[in-house]
Amino acid sequence: MKVRVIGGGLSGCEAALQLASFGFEVDLYEMRPVRPTPAHKGDRLAELICSNSFKGMANTTAHGLLKNELRMLGSFLMQAAEEAAVPAGESLTVNREVFSDAVEKRIAACKNITLHREEILTLESDIPTLVAAGPLASDALADNIFKHLGEKRLHFFDAIAPVVETDSIDFDHAFYMNRWEKGETADFINCPLDKETYDEFVRRLREAESIEPRPYEKNELFEGCLPVEEMARRGTETLRFGPMRPVGLGLGNNGKKWYAVIQLRAENKEKTLFNMVGFQTRLKWGTQKEIFMMVPALKNARFARLGCMHRNTFIESPKLLTETLRLRTEIQEKEGLPPIWFAGQITGAEGYTEAVATGWYAAWNMANELLHGKENPLPEDSCIASLLRRLIEPNEDFQPMNFNFGLLPHRQDLKKKDKKTILGNQAIEAVQKWIAEGNRDLKND
Ligand SMILES: Cc1cc2nc3c(=O)[nH]c(=O)nc-3n(C[C@H](O)[C@H](O)[C@H](O)COP(=O)(O)OP(=O)(O)OC[C@H]3O[C@@H](n4cnc5c(N)ncnc54)[C@H](O)[C@@H]3O)c2cc1C
Repeated sequence: MKVRVIGGGLSGCEAALQLASFGFEVDLYEMRPVRPTPAHKGDRLAELICSNSFKGMANTTAHGLLKNELRMLGSFLMQAAEEAAVPAGESLTVNREVFSDAVEKRIAACKNITLHREEILTLESDIPTLVAAGPLASDALADNIFKHLGEKRLHFFDAIAPVVETDSIDFDHAFYMNRWEKGETADFINCPLDKETYDEFVRRLREAESIEPRPYEKNELFEGCLPVEEMARRGTETLRFGPMRPVGLGLGNNGKKWYAVIQLRAENKEKTLFNMVGFQTRLKWGTQKEIFMMVPALKNARFARLGCMHRNTFIESPKLLTETLRLRTEIQEKEGLPPIWFAGQITGAEGYTEAVATGWYAAWNMANELLHGKENPLPEDSCIASLLRRLIEPNEDFQPMNFNFGLLPHRQDLKKKDKKTILGNQAIEAVQKWIAEGNRDLKND
């Protein structure tokens, strides 16, 4: 049976590979390079547009737990991420080129995936469709989606952090160390600032010229990814409690704690490039250079990429989707559309790992529905089912969200210190049981 997947990003590639593994003939549409997006740099599949990190690996972190679940469920992109890993303490951080390579090789090796470099303009089709067009879905497709699914266009604005060439960092003023010395090798470069430099740095950030937001862009920043200048405007200490916090990094030359520290994380295994962790920004490029070069370790820095800011579009999932990411059938039928599933950031599941997770889940449910006429949801204690409940519960002010422990079902009286372990074990056991009972064995006869 033929299916089409719109978008060769994180969610679309995971979905296409899963659908192909269930025996579907998959037409995968990726519009780049024919039509670029404002944030992707090239034409690679599964391109990571900003940070190169899939976040924590331990089961006591929300993203570690979600990744573990994806591994149990056989996610192809999690395998690719592990192959492309670069040392980064306790987080799964990848070389983005090696990661895209690994995904592209898997897709090319799959006889039943046909990759079309073509922009899809409309949801209308005879073929069941999985929409994974991401936060930067092309204007034509976004217009068509909102025409069918309601005029209320939802979006917020997301920003990208700068990348520095390692040999331009002044190591007289920087040192390698992971926070709390976690991990086997020291993978982060730390760039301290004394109080005087920090105060001046914050003052310049506050007063700096940003790319002028258009009127409709105002007040639409994602709280989990605020531009650094916005954080500076919220208070002098905000950055010292955020991306510039000096804790877990030993003592400075004067025997006292560092005052403020910017951390840089490796972009590639060769460690020739490092990105400024948490330093997403929409300052003008010249201004970014001037201000970041005030940091003693960065005074001669060469920037391989500067920060920028982009629209991040999403649909009103609570009104449109079922708990298996399918467009509600009454809307589908009224609009004369084929069966449609949505995955990735466009559903309001925020983040790379969440994109992979929703790609897996949309494909899984699509396959079950098309092959056997019924969905096969994950157990309610699992991370993915918990993320989905948040996406579809009624919410008049629906906004994207990352997966977090608060979404897992739990009793209110759990002690804080035990909470993560208990909820983590509960989620893992639920999925293990679900798999052991044969639910993951999808027959295609
Ligand atoms: C500027 C920005 C920075 C972000 N930074 C981070 C970050 O650092 N960490 C993090 O965890 N998350 C980040 N996100 C959020 C999100 O995790 C990523 O956007 C992630 O890539 C989403 O995966 P996706 O599969 O939904 O979309 P994408 O990975 O963007 O894939 C969608 C694909 O669809 C293609 N496409 C679009 N329209 C069409 C069409 N009409 N026809 C055919 N193809 C089409 C696009 O070219 C793209 O390749 C960021 C988002 C934005 C916008």
